[in-house]
Amino acid sequence: MKDLIIVGAGPGGLSASVYAKRAGLDALTLEAQPISGGQVLNTYSVDNYLGLPEIGGFELGNKFREHADDLGCPIEESEVKDIRKTEKGFEVISKKETYETKAVILALGAEHSKLNIPGEEELAGMGVSYCATCDGAFFKGRAVAVVGGGDVAVEDAIYLARTCSKVYLIHRRGELRAARMLQEQLLNLSNVEVIWNTVVDEILGEDQVEALSISNIKDKTSSKLPVDGIFIAVGMNPQNELLKCAGVEMDDKGFAKAGDDCVTSVPGIFAVGDIRTKRVRQIVTAVADGANGVYSVESYLGNLTV
Ligand code: NDP
Repeated sequence: MKDLIIVGAGPGGLSASVYAKRAGLDALTLEAQPISGGQVLNTYSVDNYLGLPEIGGFELGNKFREHADDLGCPIEESEVKDIRKTEKGFEVISKKETYETKAVILALGAEHSKLNIPGEEELAGMGVSYCATCDGAFFKGRAVAVVGGGDVAVEDAIYLARTCSKVYLIHRRGELRAARMLQEQLLNLSNVEVIWNTVVDEILGEDQVEALSISNIKDKTSSKLPVDGIFIAVGMNPQNELLKCAGVEMDDKGFAKAGDDCVTSVPGIFAVGDIRTKRVRQIVTAVADGANGVYSVESYLGNLTV
């Protein structure tokens, strides 16, 4: 019987591994992928993680894993398929074996929703981005487009307008779903232009984004919009299968309902990183969750050492 099983070895899960080790818990981290690091691994460059400016995402993911390995945190490659409540705790059932544990941290992550259009995958990291705060600085003085009409898209457009020469916000409908205050802020910016009722059909460019092929869904006209970058902000997909298995309460978007303490609706199960309800989904907030989550686990196990 383990004290804790952590499912997922992205920044949130690995941070939890490190904190669990230092807290003296008998913890094991399970990761379905052969490489740890989660979404970070696919990020071209990270420039907002304190102390490690302009580091490659792959390198940062590896550093996180090395840190956990150096401390002797046990991490196994194992895909968890189910989680069941037992009398003494939980059974965590993977393809390989069944583990028994008193508590579980779910660090399952979430993926940025894609547009699934030609050019999106080919030019990812070469002008196609899903994170304005991560990549915006690379587009200083240039023209970019943001796709989406929610809070994230509008916040991204406002953020980018501070440094980019021109920001187009492309939205598929005639009204934004973002908060009214954000909309007002956006529409007051002189270098922002909202392109309504429009979808992006293709992202064009050889080795770098050069233009977008867009079409107006009302009048069915198509045109080419020259831009140097496109920020896609059309929501996130939580990887929530195990939340369902474990009976964890979710919000209407499928994220685990949990506050900064990472406590979920199921006693003994904690949610850290992008999988939980939160405002800012960034590496640094996932890492912070790892610490908060383990603190809550210690509290739950009744051996709070801090
Ligand atoms: P949302 O689901 O709120 O918005 C997604 C946007 O993307 C919508 O405007 C939607 O259009 C559009 N969209 C979805 N799919 C496509 C597609 N295939 N093609 C084109 N457009 C598409 O997600 P967000 O990531 O913006 O926000 C997530 C949550 O986080 C929300 O609850 C939000 O309120 C919250 N949040 C709050 C903040 C705050 O309080 N300041 C800051 C950031 C996020 P349509 O409108 O037509 O459906």
